[in-house]
Amino acid sequence: MTIELRGYFITNLSTSLRSLMEEIEDSTGQNIHVLRSPEWSSQSRGTGMMIGIPEGAGFSQHSACHELIHIKRYALQNVPRLIATRDKVKHWYDIAQRIHGDTEHPLMAAEEEAYGFDPKAFWAEDLENRASRLRQRKSAFDIRADLFLLLQYFECVRPAFADRLIRLAETTGNSDAIGKAKEVREHLAINKTAALRKLVQRMGFDAAEFEMLYVDVANGTEKTIGLRQA
Ligand SMILES: [Zn+2]
Repeated sequence: MTIELRGYFITNLSTSLRSLMEEIEDSTGQNIHVLRSPEWSSQSRGTGMMIGIPEGAGFSQHSACHELIHIKRYALQNVPRLIATRDKVKHWYDIAQRIHGDTEHPLMAAEEEAYGFDPKAFWAEDLENRASRLRQRKSAFDIRADLFLLLQYFECVRPAFADRLIRLAETTGNSDAIGKAKEVREHLAINKTAALRKLVQRMGFDAAEFEMLYVDVANGTEKTIGLRQA
């Protein structure tokens, strides 16, 4: 099954994305495994690289491109990612995933555009959905978390939307989030780890709850550095 899916994946890839996949596999000396998963996903660990594709949804070149770029960044470019120190505790796992995804995705946008896709439109829609959910939620944590994240990545991905989010922040009484989000945005452009450290602290979490994970797929190893020391 795994082998069939890999064949299906490669057959459906555009020429430029097939080159990207070859570049990753040649550089790491490892094949990317292709599996079924509930939604498009990917994983790069010391144990190997994987792309998950959903059943029955058709083949999305953009989603394939997105996951390949994730893998390229982690496996080839040594980009670290945020994980929870207590990774087995679902609450912390989810928080780390959420913070990390929202920091990583704006950093990938330019490369997705270079392959001819429009991640800005995709994320704008995603953010619209999250913003409307945010308006209905009363949890202080959700408001705090989402405002920081929405603001900082909106500002990276689509500056024109920042004004709308600032108005949203004002309606929820969290308008001080705006200035802080701008600070995070500045750091984000320079150093992902520093941006994540600052974001985590601004959200009121203890940096000791998080680590940066570096993977070396070619050598089958990985290492973590505490976010505080990273
Ligand atoms: Zn992603």
